Amino acid sequence: MLHRINAMMEWLQKEDADTAIITSSENVFYFSSFFSDPHERLLAIVLFREQEPFLICPQMEVTSAKNAGFAYQVLGYSDTENPWDLVKAEINKRVGNVQKIAVEKTHMNIERYETLAAIFPNSAFIQAEDILNELRLLKDEQEVEKLQKACELADYAIEVAVNTIREGVTELEIVAAIEYELKKKGVEQMSFATTVLTGANAASPHGTPGLTKVQSGDFVLFDLGVVYKGYCSDITRTVAFRDVTEEHVQIYETVLKAQEAAIAISVPGVSCATLDKTARNIIREAGYGEYFTHRLGHGLGISIHEYPSITETNDLTLRSGMVYTIEPGIYIPNDIGVRIEDDVFITDQGARLLTKYPKNLQIVK
Ligand code: MN
Ligand code: MN
Repeated sequence: MLHRINAMMEWLQKEDADTAIITSSENVFYFSSFFSDPHERLLAIVLFREQEPFLICPQMEVTSAKNAGFAYQVLGYSDTENPWDLVKAEINKRVGNVQKIAVEKTHMNIERYETLAAIFPNSAFIQAEDILNELRLLKDEQEVEKLQKACELADYAIEVAVNTIREGVTELEIVAAIEYELKKKGVEQMSFATTVLTGANAASPHGTPGLTKVQSGDFVLFDLGVVYKGYCSDITRTVAFRDVTEEHVQIYETVLKAQEAAIAISVPGVSCATLDKTARNIIREAGYGEYFTHRLGHGLGISIHEYPSITETNDLTLRSGMVYTIEPGIYIPNDIGVRIEDDVFITDQGARLLTKYPKNLQIVK
């Protein structure tokens, strides 16, 4: 935690900013190990160029914040207090004339901004996202261990899902089976709403599971992830049920080829754009280019989507320590959807797959 706080202090010095008021749950967790969803209440870690940071949270969460391991001052406020009065007082104890404040501009809402601007009328506001994204881009050993564990649980979830397939089972029944088994293993939270889509429903990449029943000839798509000690996994597998058509098998093999090609070239120095183009070209050459309608992948960690973004236009090059998904898909409206997604960790030696569930076409009988 200390080196993260130090990096932020150095950045504040470089930017000549007095303080950073960090309010997103994910970034508060990154600096404090304390994760909380405060809903409309204020949760913030406030960092300075030279002085020690402090954390402010609802009074009822002070003990949890301290127990999480935050080693500095934790300030609680009751539901009848105005937390911004406390923030102002604490900042003014450390800095007399506040002139530049860093905030997460993509997270701060207008009401809070107006409050801050009224409290510190002489201050300019700069965005803190670039440094925060940069810090979170490269994972340390402890983070990778947690991601690995989250991925093992995701692999297990896919196993449960595949074993649940039978004639007439609904998408939501499979969702329930997956989450029931994971809860038994101690998983508190999924990274996002578990997705099970069968047949033509899978042609919508972000479809919602419902009462559609699995039938012979369907390809069933599972997209899910778990949160383990604050870190998210994200896996997709698509399996077939009974009698499959030649064309559907060919679509599956094309997605698999594209996915494996992008993984094979995942080494430090290669650009995100090259990964996307490599996978996209394979799908295009097979004649399905127009049906691959999203980017190849995204970084993941504390958030399910973070940097790097694996798109055709991102020239950022891979570095040891990055973790991201590779998830090409082909979606043919009213017919079929196939996506295969793994989580990849970049090391000096190349890509290490964190998700390991087999990818050869599985036909459930
Ligand atoms: Mn996914
Ligand atoms: Mn994903």
